[in-house]
Amino acid sequence: ILARIKDVCKRNGLLILSVLSVTIGCLLGFFLRTRRLSQQEISYFQFPGELLMRMLKMLILPLVVSSLMSGLAALDAKTSSRLGIITVTYYLWTTFVAVIVGIIMVSIIHPGGAAQKESTEEGGKPIMSSADALLDLIRNMFPANLVEATFKQYRTKSIPIIKANKASPESTTHRIIIYGVQDENGSNVQNFALDITPPPEVIYKSEPGTSDGMNVLGIVIFSATMGIMLGRMGNSGVPLVSFCQCLNESVMKIVAVAVWYFPFGIVFLIAGKILEMDDPSAIGKKLGFYAITVVCGLVVHGLFILPMMYFFITKKNPIVFIRGILQALLIALATSSSSATLPITFKCLLENNHVDRRIARFVLPVGATINMDGTALYEAVAAIFIAQVNNYELDFGQIITISITATAASIGAAGIPQAGLVTMVIVLTSVGLPTDDITLIIAVDWALDRFRTMINVLGDALAAGIMAHICRKEFIKDGDEVPLICETK
Ligand code: ASP
Repeated sequence: ILARIKDVCKRNGLLILSVLSVTIGCLLGFFLRTRRLSQQEISYFQFPGELLMRMLKMLILPLVVSSLMSGLAALDAKTSSRLGIITVTYYLWTTFVAVIVGIIMVSIIHPGGAAQKESTEEGGKPIMSSADALLDLIRNMFPANLVEATFKQYRTKSIPIIKANKASPESTTHRIIIYGVQDENGSNVQNFALDITPPPEVIYKSEPGTSDGMNVLGIVIFSATMGIMLGRMGNSGVPLVSFCQCLNESVMKIVAVAVWYFPFGIVFLIAGKILEMDDPSAIGKKLGFYAITVVCGLVVHGLFILPMMYFFITKKNPIVFIRGILQALLIALATSSSSATLPITFKCLLENNHVDRRIARFVLPVGATINMDGTALYEAVAAIFIAQVNNYELDFGQIITISITATAASIGAAGIPQAGLVTMVIVLTSVGLPTDDITLIIAVDWALDRFRTMINVLGDALAAGIMAHICRKEFIKDGDEVPLICETK
């Protein structure tokens, strides 16, 4: 029995540590609340958690660039013809549908509580209009300066312009009263308030500007384009492709080491957050609803939408297909990594579902790089949940921005545990939500990661089945090149 327990602990070490760290973090947080720590003591206590956040942010750039460039460079000139285009279009489409499912779920369940009427940003300034948000999104897709894109993104600013109130008869003579409280030495002990009578007219002018936070969308677009071009360059592109592959492998290794720090950091992140919160039990309840929202969205997408697409395109029974890849789905649940599951998915598709080897060899790795329906759905739900918790009311333009950036963020995420949490920063910064609020969702992320990875793997496998069907129907008839001919048994 001892040997078996040892074996289980060895194989599920990270999972056990994650569960333990969440539990310890919660207990520690509630215990320390009774000690009434000072603000400075809390900030020292939060330091290990702050390091975890810094590690996550540090890994974004190398992870996104290397995984996209090396993954897409694998599309050589032949395969990037019709099969490539159909596969990538299908992947983008299903990812976008997943995001929409997530947005509908989070809007119906509203896990973050009721939204307030007024939408405000730091300092009570009005948030930018939908048109500005959309223009910023497009600007961010085409960064003028790649170096600047690694630490700044485009963000329209609202500049208040104060005008005399023409409607008022006394408009030429404004009376200005300044209120404030000073101590005996004459220094301010309370902020000053300005009272202008009659009130002047304040109009807001939008001006394109930049704000802190990496423009990951621009980097995703650039890396993807570069990867595709490298794939088309043939032998002359090999040195850079090998460099990217090497970079990708080394970053994956860093992530594999960093995840062992995560449980330790999580204890302090969660406890620190509980210490900071006014009413932690309220956020605990909201977090529960948030987890339910993500799981419901994943169930709808994975058990209804994707199988229905498979059925409508192939006219085959999706249940039989899913039964064939059950082993891969369980491995995804256990490892939280669609890349690690790749060999098993490949094996299941060939042996149980008889998908053509050439199709699987192309569709699966590209899917593991760019197709993450579960991750995209979760990113959209998480961003809107954080907006709800902060009482930000998102307008239509911002919802569109979230849906596009969540799609881009899932494309940029690598198929490794909790990579979605790293790229979550992209979605939050795109609409000006506080990135530190990722700490709110970290407590349940280890569990949600497992479910979203299952849906990521399911999406890739069903896509391989669909592509095999489409190839059989069209490509043989058109007499296309070798990689595109397939026979499904
Ligand atoms: N763990 C996921 C995967 O491997 C990625 C993520 O959403 O974190 O597919």
